Amino acid sequence: MQQWTLTETIEKLQQKKISSVELVKKALAAAQKQEYLNAIITLTSEQALAQAKEADKNRATGSCSFLGGIPVALKDIFLTTDVRTTCASKILNNFIATYDSTAVKKLSEAGGISIGKLNMDEFAMGSSNENSSFGLVKNPWSFDRSPGGSSGGSAAAVAAGIVFGSLGTDTGGSIRQPASFSGVVGIKPTYGRVSRFGVVAFASSLDQVGVLARTVSDAAVLLQAISGHDVHDATSSPMPVPNYSRSIESGVKALRIGVPKEYFSTGLQPEVAQAIEAAIQLYQKLGATIVEISLPHTDYAISAYYVICTAEASANLARYDGARYGLSLGREQGLASMYEKTRDAGFGAEVKRRIILGTYVLAAGYYDAYYKKASQVRTLLAQDFAQAFQQCDVILGPTTPTTAFKLGEKLTDPLQMYLGDVFTVSCNLAGLPGLSLPCGFDRQNLPIGMQLLGKHFDEPTLFRVARAYERETRWHHTHPPLFSGI
Ligand code: GLN
Repeated sequence: MQQWTLTETIEKLQQKKISSVELVKKALAAAQKQEYLNAIITLTSEQALAQAKEADKNRATGSCSFLGGIPVALKDIFLTTDVRTTCASKILNNFIATYDSTAVKKLSEAGGISIGKLNMDEFAMGSSNENSSFGLVKNPWSFDRSPGGSSGGSAAAVAAGIVFGSLGTDTGGSIRQPASFSGVVGIKPTYGRVSRFGVVAFASSLDQVGVLARTVSDAAVLLQAISGHDVHDATSSPMPVPNYSRSIESGVKALRIGVPKEYFSTGLQPEVAQAIEAAIQLYQKLGATIVEISLPHTDYAISAYYVICTAEASANLARYDGARYGLSLGREQGLASMYEKTRDAGFGAEVKRRIILGTYVLAAGYYDAYYKKASQVRTLLAQDFAQAFQQCDVILGPTTPTTAFKLGEKLTDPLQMYLGDVFTVSCNLAGLPGLSLPCGFDRQNLPIGMQLLGKHFDEPTLFRVARAYERETRWHHTHPPLFSGI
């Protein structure tokens, strides 16, 4: 029972070995027991229980949807009409949306039951979940460590066994990096695969919705539920969604796995390098061909990312002016005072830093030197991948240079924090799908993550390659000390 995966639990529901109400009750109890993690911003017990009752009723009459009432949770960046969406910011304090985001709607239609909204870095800006106005999140593996960010609550809730899966967003690594730090699976699909409608925008050309789960197959099932075209998001793709579970057990025989030499440079924690080397050997044993590839512009990815994402953020966050959403201060003294007071009190330090940086790189005198250059680098990075994918079917490397760092360790040094995103940002700049899965532990028993990058819309190969490794290893069966399990 403790070890049931999402896929197994769906079966148990169908066989009536457990009910959705029981599952939701267990999830709520686990949430309470693990409250110290601070993974959840708003727990929605009553709604969840009511929906579970409904799911059980539907099952009894044979009209149950696919997931059949499985407890999940949502990063607090997804708009929901029945509960506040804070984006972990004071400026959206008590903001209730007037419509539901498409991903949430789809997940719920598929039979997922949300037990709450999860903690995150404010406006998804960060890599540690320390930039939240609701307080930091603790890593279930070691409470003095960061669970990663910005989807830190999404990763911690899954790792701690509170829910089977969660929704996250990934602009520069925010699903994969926390998945890696917290020892779970996380996938950011191809840009356009999942609708961004109703997802609070950070950097619109990079933002993508994805999922976190305990196993690769569970992630495939959840991604299936939320993928597809949406008339409300012009950047969502009309390409048909393949069945992600169909070829997941097909193995890696004859597949070419590219290993970028630039991803093994200095700064990589030796245990991370060793774990990745071991994974490469295992893949070879399983029949894959390992190809050394080069992604020559990797060194420029972080600079380009932090110019582009801040530029887009400065434009996207202009809407929080005190007139339209959430917090509003200083109205009595006129318009300028309302803008100033609302934004000063409503945004945290990192968000302000990015708005200022983003405004600067877009300013008339600096646009060519920064934003335009960064866009050119973005094209070069995309070309690197296009060339690499002529030699291989999938790219393998570490998700992060180190395992989870200590809370507070990088908070006063934003540059150090940014540099940790070296392996994750290129994927977003090129719009590619990326998946992180557990591949070992370091000497301090902290999880290590392996990243797989795929061709556009080739999520099936990512799942297949990830599953081939997972089948041969036990990492995903190892849980943090106080794992609740449902
Ligand atoms: N850590 C990166 C940043 O701070 C990525 C964030 C994200 O993917 N939302 O911007």
